[in-house]
Amino acid sequence: MRGVEVEKDFEVEGGGFNLSQDFPQAVAAPVDSTEMVPGFNSSGASHFGPKRSKLAASTSPLPEDEMAGSPASAPNVPQPPKFATAAEERLHRKRMLAAAFRLFSRFEFDEGVAGHITARDPERLDHFWVNPFGMHFGQIRASDLILVNHRGQVVEGNHPVNGAAFAIHSQVHAARPDVVAAAHAHSVFGKSWASLGRLLDPITQDACAFFEDHGLFADFTGVVYETSEGERIAKALGPHKAAILRNHGLLTVGETVEEAAWWFITMDRSCHAQLLAEAAGDPVKIDHAQAIATRGQVGTHFAGWFQFQPLLTRMLRDEPDLLD
Ligand SMILES: [Zn+2]
Repeated sequence: MRGVEVEKDFEVEGGGFNLSQDFPQAVAAPVDSTEMVPGFNSSGASHFGPKRSKLAASTSPLPEDEMAGSPASAPNVPQPPKFATAAEERLHRKRMLAAAFRLFSRFEFDEGVAGHITARDPERLDHFWVNPFGMHFGQIRASDLILVNHRGQVVEGNHPVNGAAFAIHSQVHAARPDVVAAAHAHSVFGKSWASLGRLLDPITQDACAFFEDHGLFADFTGVVYETSEGERIAKALGPHKAAILRNHGLLTVGETVEEAAWWFITMDRSCHAQLLAEAAGDPVKIDHAQAIATRGQVGTHFAGWFQFQPLLTRMLRDEPDLLD
């Protein structure tokens, strides 16, 4: 992969990823994302994903002045791939899921067998791909993923499905036809913040991605095994990109696996930042108008997809077996 320097040692704490938030200036040598996945074809025209919902209020078309300076407006920036066939799109989604699980493992978002990321199948729209129950995030390959139908039955793969994964994700996918992927895990900072029963405040540029664009599920009734509970969680998510599940953890969604995974990563870090800031003092909130404008820059579907790309590049170089 040309022009990409990948640090050798990966550290979760202390800025191991060192993502610059001040894109597009950071995009000095854009990488063609089509190089990242062998056999991947970006020349196809049609997109097989569900149509974008008008519900996605936070990501509805933004005024031009809000888009100025966003990464999508910079020249030569890679764009999300399009696919000629559903089979190609399915393979891509599965590979991105495997990459997201490997990343979640590196960020230490795993907690035993808890946590799941799902991707809607591009043809069977009421089916989703998910991690096998009991397999470590850090070992998941694309071929390990299982396909689950709307009744919770495993229709592809030889592993069981986590009951909570079905109860929550089936309802989120059903309620949000615009959502391709959903991520949930019991990350330490996410669940610590979730115990406060509060929404995140716009105290940093990054946290503005979630400004007036995340919900709060202000209830806890034990492990979620009932789809009726998943339905209530989907309602708390509403039209947003994320929800805080009180006493439980975070839930994020996206039009791509890459986007949903990135929102989870940056939301956990925003929880961490607010916990640190409030422990130290009284953080200054960004004013309403500026928080909205910043959300238009860092909180779009494209921004979510693009922020994932450097992490993906590094993961594909470090652990190429995830594609198998
Ligand atoms: Zn959970």
